Amino acid sequence: MRYAILGDIHSNIQALDAILAEAQKHSIDRYISVGDVVGYGADPVACIERLQRVDAVVVAGNHDWATIGRTDTTFFNSYAKAAVEWTTQVLKSEHKEWLARRPLTTVVDGRLTIAHATLHDPSNFDYIQSYSDAARSLNQLDTEVCFVGHSHVPLAFLVSDRLCLSLAHSIDLSMIDRALINVGSIGQPRDENPKAAYAIYDGGTRHYALHRVNYDIAQACARILAAGLPDVLAERLRFGR
Ligand code: ZN
Repeated sequence: MRYAILGDIHSNIQALDAILAEAQKHSIDRYISVGDVVGYGADPVACIERLQRVDAVVVAGNHDWATIGRTDTTFFNSYAKAAVEWTTQVLKSEHKEWLARRPLTTVVDGRLTIAHATLHDPSNFDYIQSYSDAARSLNQLDTEVCFVGHSHVPLAFLVSDRLCLSLAHSIDLSMIDRALINVGSIGQPRDENPKAAYAIYDGGTRHYALHRVNYDIAQACARILAAGLPDVLAERLRFGR
């Protein structure tokens, strides 16, 4: 079984389509999204419908929840808030209902755990910023690996005899007891690499690989500006931050 794990898409259909085209070459059996399908970008409807078409397993992120009024936007910056308000107007009720049905965490095929932000307190949408944050989620983990998003920065916490941090893009998990892996972001990378990020996990060999894909950033920016969303949401895509 080969899984494609899709991090924070954020309504960026240009990036998502580039990823899906690339993923097809790797004979993917199942698509998984770690949430934040919407927010920031200009094509929330297309992104939701693409995930429905590939029958993806999807958990909800904080922007998804904000869009359906399930979490308040007090801690969102003004650009994120503007995008949430715009997205709320653009989505039809069927899209909001679909978002509302997404769980905060789930287990795929009894072996892959999925959450947007953390596993230990998923509805708070905290960031995993330290070994102790990672350990709290890893302590809740009953499967070999947990995939998350939220920070838009790919990295992995690996547990064998001790907990360590890895920035490697290719990891053999067969020698690892448990792993908590952030797969980066498709629609708004923040690791100073503007290419869209997604991961492939091979359930047979337990090999994890992060992939980076070029996409039409100019078109994604043009869509954001045409929608009247804040300029900064377009600008940051060019720099990956
Ligand atoms: Zn996000």
